[in-house]
Amino acid sequence: MDFGEITELLDLKRCVSCGACTDACPSARHGGIVPDVAVVSVIDGKFPERIWDCLMCHRCSMACPQEIDVAEMMAVLRNVSDGIPERYVRTAFQVYRTGRTVSPSRRTASQREDLGLSPADDADADALRRVLDREGWPHD
Ligand code: SF4
Ligand code: SF4
Repeated sequence: MDFGEITELLDLKRCVSCGACTDACPSARHGGIVPDVAVVSVIDGKFPERIWDCLMCHRCSMACPQEIDVAEMMAVLRNVSDGIPERYVRTAFQVYRTGRTVSPSRRTASQREDLGLSPADDADADALRRVLDREGWPHD
């Protein structure tokens, strides 16, 4: 599928560049994907930057006065991209192993000790692993 087909499929030329999708986007607020810029990129035939920073929350689609499904555009772009960047794959495997996206640092451990808290063990990821295994999680 090329950019022209994506533009047509999702009727992206209805975009009036109002920025409502970006105002609603939690990722844009933290330096991630900028959905209104991404829509213009696709219309212009260019692959947008940072599509893997999209959280798939659909707030952009709900905010769009032109009823453009911006989140669906993100999903389509991911499907036609070259693949998931390595850093996200690493994070996914860490969640599988530990139930956490970020492991507690030594500093966190020391702060917990200072506060009289017990050490932060790995989260109980058994239930998560059961679901992922059932869905065919790709073990390496
Ligand atoms: S679905 Fe993605 S682009 Fe849309 S608001 Fe959520 S994070 Fe932003
Ligand atoms: S909210 Fe809709 S019309 Fe406005 S910039 Fe985003 S995609 Fe375009």
